[in-house]
Amino acid sequence: MLTPAGVRERHAVHVDDERIVAVEPSPPGSESDVDLLAPGFVDLQVNGHDDVDVVAARGGDWDRLDGLLLAQGVTTWFPTVVTAPLDALERRIARMLGRVDGPARGPRPDVGGVHLEGPFLGEAHGAHADVPAGPVDVAWLDGLPEPVRIVTLGPEREGALEAIRSLTARGVVVALGHTTASLEATTAAVDAGARLFTHVFNASGPLHHRRPGALGAALTDDRLTVTLIADGVHVHPAVIRLVWRAKPAGGVVLVTDAVAWRSARSSDRGVAHVDGAPRLPDGTLAGSSLTMPEAVRGAVTAGVDLADALTAASTTPAALLGLADRGAIAPGRRADLVALDGGLRVQAVWCGGALAAQPPAGNGE
Ligand code: ZN
Repeated sequence: MLTPAGVRERHAVHVDDERIVAVEPSPPGSESDVDLLAPGFVDLQVNGHDDVDVVAARGGDWDRLDGLLLAQGVTTWFPTVVTAPLDALERRIARMLGRVDGPARGPRPDVGGVHLEGPFLGEAHGAHADVPAGPVDVAWLDGLPEPVRIVTLGPEREGALEAIRSLTARGVVVALGHTTASLEATTAAVDAGARLFTHVFNASGPLHHRRPGALGAALTDDRLTVTLIADGVHVHPAVIRLVWRAKPAGGVVLVTDAVAWRSARSSDRGVAHVDGAPRLPDGTLAGSSLTMPEAVRGAVTAGVDLADALTAASTTPAALLGLADRGAIAPGRRADLVALDGGLRVQAVWCGGALAAQPPAGNGE
């Protein structure tokens, strides 16, 4: 079991109502049906899964998405909206917020907030279309509804620092990303309050030995936590190791950046699953088809310590977003738990203490 004190063998979790009330050694002779118990996964970047896109989902699509997320151990997630014209973005966010809190047919993973990836990205647009030109529209960002908790923007944009200060003052986590900014511009953005770097190495300028750029800051400035897409396609396993060696404990977050690559919206853009990931017709990566357990396996296969990988999938993102009631197996926390087998495949998931997916015979020990 992964606890804040590290991996503990032969321990049991006691749950009352939705909360963990005790974590203690199992009685001698007791049997466990679970190989490994970790805090429920927290995914900060989910555009959709399979054929359900968060900005197009309706009615029963949300139940299907809930089921897909729970089956991969995700108990808190951040539906992610990519760049579009400002008026379209406003409509998409409002429509999504109206549905995301609608009635559910079963246990559902908690929406921690909305991640707005853009629209004021830097120069590395990646698969994003309709990136607006000109300075950051700070007033528009300030008018975003409260559930928007993460905004990814480019530090090289005029007005970026003012936007970062304003968003940060309202409790929004500013992520830097899709950027070719210099190290100096990136550091200024961190000084202004940016604390996250979106999918490090993807849609970033190069790490050059004389012009280290945004990646140089992302890897060496301990104030920045970086997110990483560990599907074996977006970054090479050696780069996964490099990122983990560069960042201090709690400095890496595993995200899926999953997209609904089988949806009508994706096929309209010509997205196809080629060489291990969804791509535009010109080969540009357009999100992933990754799940959180696959991300943990990807990190571990690359050489990352298992406890560190699980922490990056749960404890670190929860803490970064100020979700102090979850993200750890400790008394007082929400009983959001995922049981994994020896191959790091999901055996069972508990959401606020309620068995939510793939029931085993055991009790979460
Ligand atoms: Zn992106």
